[in-house]
Amino acid sequence: MSNLIERYKLQNSEFVNYVQKLYNQREELKHANEQQRNIIRDLSETIDLRNKEIDDLQQTLANYQPPKETYVEEHYDRMDTVTLKKALNPYKPKIAIIIGHDALVQGAISPFLNKTEWEFYNAQAVNGIGAGNILFYRNRNGVSSAHDAIRAHPRQFDLVLEFHFNAFSNPQANGAEILMAEYLNKFERTLADHVLQEWCHTFGLRDRGLKFPAKGARGFKNVNGFTDAPTFLLEPFFGTNETDCDKIKNVNIVEWFVNEFAKRLIEQNNEKSNA
Ligand SMILES: [Zn+2]
Repeated sequence: MSNLIERYKLQNSEFVNYVQKLYNQREELKHANEQQRNIIRDLSETIDLRNKEIDDLQQTLANYQPPKETYVEEHYDRMDTVTLKKALNPYKPKIAIIIGHDALVQGAISPFLNKTEWEFYNAQAVNGIGAGNILFYRNRNGVSSAHDAIRAHPRQFDLVLEFHFNAFSNPQANGAEILMAEYLNKFERTLADHVLQEWCHTFGLRDRGLKFPAKGARGFKNVNGFTDAPTFLLEPFFGTNETDCDKIKNVNIVEWFVNEFAKRLIEQNNEKSNA
């Protein structure tokens, strides 16, 4: 009997232990469950945050305006090296400018401008020549001294412009003309013709046309200097005509012609490189 009791006691205590163990396991599982719930809560918070970041990025992307530089860089990526070089270093015409006459013998006098050719253009050239262009003066050896200096200069000029104004005993004589050498080609003649037309149109002057002085005639030496670049001798008005002088008295003629020739050279250069 006592054996039986002992056996029940033992069984009972084993059962109690077993229940205790189950209870402990349940507590452990509860705890683990709690931990997993915390982890899941943290993870879903993180996912919410990430989703919000993605929304923000999408919004930023939708509102994004690429800066101009970025576009240019991307555009350059698709260019070949020659085009890229041109785009980075655009063609800029280089013009040699000669002021007519010299300080000792100053050329014609305009009674309406109260200036000699030398005085008139020398004052304008101070402000009107622009970067890349170079001013050349004659010395006492005449225009060939300026041509020598241009030929000796390391810069390759696109054009030579020499500035004068016309003068005549008859004060009615008026208008503008450009002198050049016979050997200039069609392209160079057309360039000068268009500039002259624009000048006359802009300031209401008479277009006297292009002149090609014969050997020994006035202006022949000036435009036959063989400076590599085509030479144009500009006579944009008559200093002896009051109306002409009135029309141009507030114009920087050096600047106007340098800009006009340069603009057209750039246009022609662009047309050539796009062809
Ligand atoms: Zn002159």
